[in-house]
Amino acid sequence: MSLILNPTASPALSPIAAMDAAHSVHPHTNLRRHLEQGPSIITRGDGIYVEDEAGQRYLEGAAGLWCASLGFGNARLGAVAAKVMTEIGYYHNFRSASTPAAAELSAKLASFAPPGMDKVLLQCSGSEANDTALKLVWYHWAGQGQPQRRKIISRLGAYHGTGAVTACLTAKANFHTGFGLPFDGFLYTGMPYHYRHAHPGEDEQAFSSRLAAELEAMIEREGPETIAAFWAEPVMGSGGAVVPPAGYFDKIQAVLRKYDILLVADEVICGFGRTGEMWGSETYGMTPDLICSAKSLSAAMVPISAVLIGERVFNGMMAQTDRLGSFAHGYTYGGHPMACAVAHEVLTIYEEMDLIGHVKSVEPLFLAGLAGLSDREYVGDASGVGLIGAVEIVTDRATKAMADAALMARIDAATRARGLIVRLVGNRVALSPPQIISAAEVQEMFERLGLALDEVFGAVR
Ligand code: PMP
Repeated sequence: MSLILNPTASPALSPIAAMDAAHSVHPHTNLRRHLEQGPSIITRGDGIYVEDEAGQRYLEGAAGLWCASLGFGNARLGAVAAKVMTEIGYYHNFRSASTPAAAELSAKLASFAPPGMDKVLLQCSGSEANDTALKLVWYHWAGQGQPQRRKIISRLGAYHGTGAVTACLTAKANFHTGFGLPFDGFLYTGMPYHYRHAHPGEDEQAFSSRLAAELEAMIEREGPETIAAFWAEPVMGSGGAVVPPAGYFDKIQAVLRKYDILLVADEVICGFGRTGEMWGSETYGMTPDLICSAKSLSAAMVPISAVLIGERVFNGMMAQTDRLGSFAHGYTYGGHPMACAVAHEVLTIYEEMDLIGHVKSVEPLFLAGLAGLSDREYVGDASGVGLIGAVEIVTDRATKAMADAALMARIDAATRARGLIVRLVGNRVALSPPQIISAAEVQEMFERLGLALDEVFGAVR
């Protein structure tokens, strides 16, 4: 029996939508509005399109949650999943147990990894990968006789997950307010977003130098011997698809090296071609000690994530288990054979389709599409890399006054009415289409977005 009665749900809801409204608690959702208005139910998908229960088709310009790299619906991956489900269904990876699927995925993922990162720890979600990476950082430092290195520095606007600890790495106020977070020991340095945070007249290189100097000042203030790691997405995703300014990671890494601070690259969004190279770390010349990977790892078809571990941290982990007896960390579903087999097939598909070659071939059109929007009256910033980018909506280009929630809601409605799903982050309209998107589909996506923006801007003018 339903404990939460839903007398306010619209009578127009379909039976499925009414069921969902009554019983399903949705993340990142106004719970009261959901009870009253119900969900949008997506029923099927093919290629880069999805369809709702009314039969309306949408070009999925956000790849779901920046993740459906191969688009929607995939019989080949379905057959792989069914085979593993029939043959074994489940086995774990605790205490040296393994399956062919887990072994093969680990080896293949290591072959995709940047040089020197050939150890793979399998998890189930991006949050788990970040949580695990954080524990590995602490484990490593304790093993090096520096257990006081506990503090973590991330960047304002960062998103690294939503667990109790990963929400502390995440530096967005709504993830903290209401939950009594963050815990002590999480520090936040400046957001590398030139359009909004550069001083007047400060070019990208000068802005990057200032951010690096601010990081160094923070490290000195806190005590370098207390800082364990610096956490960064190569391109900030949920912060608004924010591409770092020129020189940023070179300058930041110089500071990290000076104080012997570990670098963790959260590649949950950026991994697997999103930025035009296999890893965002490659695009920006980062040499991380750990990489967190998820989403496109399995084309989002099954929940799986991985931490790629560099030699330095792995040696620290070895020293710890020599001392303690075993590595006391892991999840029931880590290395799940069905998830591993599907992810392995996804990586095989990436090789067959020449994922990076394909992304590079459509990237110029994608960037031209963004640039083409930048002359609109209400577009401030328009920037991207690979197949990720955004336009920022302002009501006054001179003052950069941000569009409010009501205006952004109109943009959301106008894009949906034109059969396009985008990701709104504050006053930014972000795009990260499936990496299989064709040149013609890139054009179609920008045509639809341009028309939707023109319609809304025309109405507010
Ligand atoms: N890191 C980044 C960069 C992300 O974008 C996300 C999810 N959007 C996460 C971590 C968390 O992943 P998950 O939702 O799978 O826990």
